[in-house]
Amino acid sequence: MLPPKLAIISPCYNEEDILPDTIPTLCRLLNMLIEEKCIDKQSYIVFIDDGSLDKTYQILKENTSPQIKALKLSTNKGHQYALLAGLHFTTNKVDCVISIDADLQDDLNVIPQMIKQYENGAHIVCGVRTNRDTDTFFKRKTARIFYHFMHQMGVTLIENHADFRLLSNKALIEILKYKESNLFLRGLFPLINMRLETIEYTQKDRKKGQTKYGLRKMMSLAISGITSFSSAPIRMITGIGLLLFLVTMALSFHVLVVYVKGDVVPGWASISLPMYFLGGVQLLSLGIIGEYVAKIYKETKRRPYYHIEDILE
Ligand code: UDP
Ligand code: MG
Repeated sequence: MLPPKLAIISPCYNEEDILPDTIPTLCRLLNMLIEEKCIDKQSYIVFIDDGSLDKTYQILKENTSPQIKALKLSTNKGHQYALLAGLHFTTNKVDCVISIDADLQDDLNVIPQMIKQYENGAHIVCGVRTNRDTDTFFKRKTARIFYHFMHQMGVTLIENHADFRLLSNKALIEILKYKESNLFLRGLFPLINMRLETIEYTQKDRKKGQTKYGLRKMMSLAISGITSFSSAPIRMITGIGLLLFLVTMALSFHVLVVYVKGDVVPGWASISLPMYFLGGVQLLSLGIIGEYVAKIYKETKRRPYYHIEDILE
């Protein structure tokens, strides 16, 4: 069997600090794999500049070769969409793709194993982190809550798998059939039900540059993940509403009894507390419903995912 043709996809957003390290490291890896006949000699790397404001694209431009291609998105669309641009770009051009972050926190040494799994028939090979100590305490805790919540809602996710994965071209074609505007890629892979393997690795510290996933982007990804895959939060609202209705019924009964007995106490707390509570619950519920309405609004517009300003190949 001929070795597979591979494309390594790496989204970058303001990565001028680390790209001068990343480019030669990935090139070395590619050439090593080619020499060892693990992959076809026409394999390549695609960097997707996700609308960076620094010298990211300039650095990519200075380094293009038949082995290094680059796409420039005209504006910052976020990691998931930058990755999607790379997936679209490589579909049907290669046998398999591996997506990896530009900061090289993921372990390159497992890539040969990923390719081996692919050759053994796997369509999706997910890199799973065995450690999270490179993350902040806050990120670790919120990630745990997120996975727990998703699991409770019946969404299958591979825990501690981010976006370091191999996809066969066949899996890629199937994934790209999901046309949703609210993209949460890692939630889609279990849905296509093709052979999926996992490989464990230890994640390293980011050597240069800062994390590009601030609190806002992280929250947005989590909300996207939850609302794209489950309507459980809306059902939860119905549940809370029902419960409150029952409580109110019981309370009304109590009020009636007190009224009939005639010992009405001019209570401030008993009025204002439920008022605040109910106001809060209503606002929260509206917020959750609003989140879904906003999704529907976004989906119906069918706007393009990203805009490609330039391609270097
Ligand atoms: N990234 C991107 N667009 C963004 C944010 C991040 O393309 O809007 C890229 C970033 O350049 C990196 C990858 O996504 O290659 C993961 O980001 P980062 O390492 O900052 O996240 P962390 O590892 O801290 O979760
Ligand atoms: Mg990182």
